[in-house]
Amino acid sequence: MFKVVNERKVALITGANRGIGLAIAQEFVSQGWQVVGSYRSERANAEFEQLPCDVTDPVSIENLVKQVEDKYQRIDALVINAGWNKDALLMRLEDSDLHQTIATNLTGSIQIARRVSRLMLKQRSGSIIFIGSVVGMLGSSGQTAYASTKAAVIGAARSMARELGQRSIRVNVVAPGYVNTDMTKDLPAEQKAMIASMTPLGRTAEPSEVAKMVAFLSSDDAAFITGALIPVDGGLGMGH
Ligand code: NDP
Repeated sequence: MFKVVNERKVALITGANRGIGLAIAQEFVSQGWQVVGSYRSERANAEFEQLPCDVTDPVSIENLVKQVEDKYQRIDALVINAGWNKDALLMRLEDSDLHQTIATNLTGSIQIARRVSRLMLKQRSGSIIFIGSVVGMLGSSGQTAYASTKAAVIGAARSMARELGQRSIRVNVVAPGYVNTDMTKDLPAEQKAMIASMTPLGRTAEPSEVAKMVAFLSSDDAAFITGALIPVDGGLGMGH
C-alpha cells in the first residue's frame, strides 16, 4: 500500500461529520494538523479526510484505525467524540436505547482508545481525549443512560492515564455543558431557557468553543496535563 511520509501531526476524530466533532476537526485543520475524521451516516461537506466508522462495531473500528495507521504510521491525537443520546424518563427507558447508549458512548469509546493506544505505545507519545458531559457528574432527569456513560468515561480515562503515562500518553476528558448542535436542537424552548438561566455565563455554547479546548489539550502546551476533567460548560457544573 502507498504510504504517506507525513511531517504534520495526525489527529483522528470520531463523529466528525457534524456538531462538536466537525468543529474539532476544523480547529485541528486550522492549526495545521493532518486530520482524519470519521462519519457513520454521511460525510461532512468539509476539506479534511473522512473515513466511515460505526463505533458500536469493533470490525469497523479496526478498519478505521488500520487505514490511518497504514497511511500515516502514527496518530498523535485521538478525539473520542462520537456519541448517542435519547432522552427518556427512567420508567420509559427502553432496553434497546440503554444498550445503544452504552455501546456507542462507553464500549465503543474504550475499544477505539485501546486500539489507538497500541500505536501510541509504539510511538511513545499521544493524546487521547474523551468528550464527556457536564451531566456525567451533575446527573440529569431523563438522562439516566446517557449520564451513566458520561460518568463512566471519566473512570476509563483516568485508568488509562495511570496506565499509559509512563509512555508519555496523556488521557483527558472534556466535559461540555449545553452546546448548540443536532443533539440539543429538539429540546423544548422552555428547557433551553432554563438551562441557560442555570448557567453562570447565561448562555449556551457554540461547538467551536469546545473545539478550542480539545486542540489545546492535544498540543505540546498541555504536555503536563493528564487524567484531567476539563469543563467547558459556562460554569453549569461548578463544584462537581
Ligand atoms: P450530534 O448528535 O450533533 O453528533 C453526534 C455524532 O456522533 C455524529 O457525528 C454521529 O454520526 C456520531 N455517532 C453517533 N453514533 C455513532 C456510532 N454508532 N458510530 C459512529 N459515530 C456515531 O452530537 P454533538 O456534536 O452534540 O455531540 C458530540 C459529542 O459531545 C457527544 O459525545 C456528546 O455526547 C457530547 N456532548 C454534547 C453536548 C451538547 O450539548 N450538544 C453536551 C455535552 C456533551 P452520524 O451523523 O452518522 O449519526
